[in-house]
Amino acid sequence: MIDFQHVLDTIHQTAQKTDDRGKIADYIPELAKVDKNKFGIHLVNMNQENFSAGDSNERFSIQSISKVFTLTMALGLIGEKLWTRVDVEPSGDPFNHLSLLEFEKGIPRNPFINPGAIVVADVLISHLKNPKDEFLAFVRNIADDETIDYDSTVAASEKQTGFHNYAAANLLKSFKNLENDVETVLDFYFHQCSLTMSCAQLANTFYLYINNGRCRRKNTHLTSGQVKRINALMLTCGFYDEAGEFAFEVGLPGKSGVGGGIVALHPNKFCVATWSPGLNEKGNSKLGMLALEKLTTETELSIF
Ligand code: GLN
Repeated sequence: MIDFQHVLDTIHQTAQKTDDRGKIADYIPELAKVDKNKFGIHLVNMNQENFSAGDSNERFSIQSISKVFTLTMALGLIGEKLWTRVDVEPSGDPFNHLSLLEFEKGIPRNPFINPGAIVVADVLISHLKNPKDEFLAFVRNIADDETIDYDSTVAASEKQTGFHNYAAANLLKSFKNLENDVETVLDFYFHQCSLTMSCAQLANTFYLYINNGRCRRKNTHLTSGQVKRINALMLTCGFYDEAGEFAFEVGLPGKSGVGGGIVALHPNKFCVATWSPGLNEKGNSKLGMLALEKLTTETELSIF
């Protein structure tokens, strides 16, 4: 039996002693206000036993981690048809790069780079009556937690400086891969990214992806084939141009966000969320990656 609590405590102690914590994302001004010394980690196993250390109950901006939830909802709504509008290949590019999008005529490489997530947001808007409300209800449902909410200050802050995402959405529109108005789609996208959740909430929400598509409320949201696809995309594309490095160091599917969160999982075994706001040069949490590397090395629980 692995003593997860002991492993998390050791990781937390090492994190507390680490000075080199990377750089907070300041291109979204509101995110720059967060305390760089925060560190949290939370793990849930298949039996829904919870283990945690540090600031694991403090909520932060989940940013791109939300792309896993929108993808899940879109797959439920339109199934495999989604793949005619977005591809499933790693991009090898940073999350906000647009050069490939122009080259590949408006079909984003995958649903986790920004243009891909904007297409997924467009799908949701086309199929839902009240997209923001229904998406929030969906996340609350899979999280089994009605307190999860958007942070409208963060959404407004990102909108003010969101020129790159406006460029992406306009490019998609020019290639006819956006059905709705640029403004409507980005308003939704900025809101999904502004969701605030703690490591504990994230790890419990991702239970769905280790449990064959069944959430904590025991509702089935995905077929096992769809879970396979989402987990494969997390492994190959979840960390943008650092997906190879994450697989190499940690050896688990996962997803990061510029708020400093990372969620990683081992199907049928556990899911774990970390939070440390300082990012490395690829935009992924610096301490979060180190923590997860330590976790899979010490427990010998990687998928490889
Ligand atoms: N909302 C952020 C953006 O679009 C999400 C990026 C991220 O978390 N990598 O820039």
